[in-house]
Amino acid sequence: MRLRNIPGSREAIAENNYCIPETEPPKGQWHSIFGNNNPIHIEIGMGKGKFIMALAKRNPQINYVGIEKYSSVLLRGLQKLEEEPLENIRFIRMDAEDICDMFDKNEVERIYLNFSDPWPKDRHAKRRLTSHQFFALYQQILKSNGIVEFKTDNIGLFDFSLEEVKEAGWKLDAFTRDLHHDQTMNQGNIMTEYEERFSAKGNPICKLIASR
Ligand code: SAM
Repeated sequence: MRLRNIPGSREAIAENNYCIPETEPPKGQWHSIFGNNNPIHIEIGMGKGKFIMALAKRNPQINYVGIEKYSSVLLRGLQKLEEEPLENIRFIRMDAEDICDMFDKNEVERIYLNFSDPWPKDRHAKRRLTSHQFFALYQQILKSNGIVEFKTDNIGLFDFSLEEVKEAGWKLDAFTRDLHHDQTMNQGNIMTEYEERFSAKGNPICKLIASR
């Protein structure tokens, strides 16, 4: 998701209390940011944050961190959060490749990846957020019982991701190629912005859950 650059969006983010500056990573200190020892779940590539904000509202006993590469996109999330403040959520504008600078070993319990960019050219495969290279980064910050949940409507990216779970030496706990018709996996599902858009067009939604 790329929106037209919004002048001043970087500055607006830097001044916002919900946003953690990338330059001051609270690695190992997240519990003092939230003021409690609740589990930390993160979404990488949160877009405008519809999904993670709905989760944070539903689960006040979990702390959520939304990560997004582009400030103009993240700013939309911040604007929504200001209309409906939540204590258990923070955002960071950063590239996921630097995730290990932001979180310590075992600091995260769950990672959500939703409708991640497909990077269709083979030579860009390692940039996909479900490549084995990214799984190796996730392994460094996830607790031993931590999981990754991934949703997409892109069949090619989904097939690639299933292979990469194996390649990374992770376990595939569950998967479906039609989430909205899978009673078990769809239970409690929160639709992301892209999920709403693509399922309205009739595209089946794929989902996998993987653990270390
Ligand atoms: N997750 C949202 C949804 O399902 O509605 C947005 C999906 S959008 C296709 C992918 C988002 O991931 C974009 O907002 C993009 O800027 C962000 N993104 C892509 N690569 C990223 C990276 N390496 N680090 C952080 N964010 C990234």
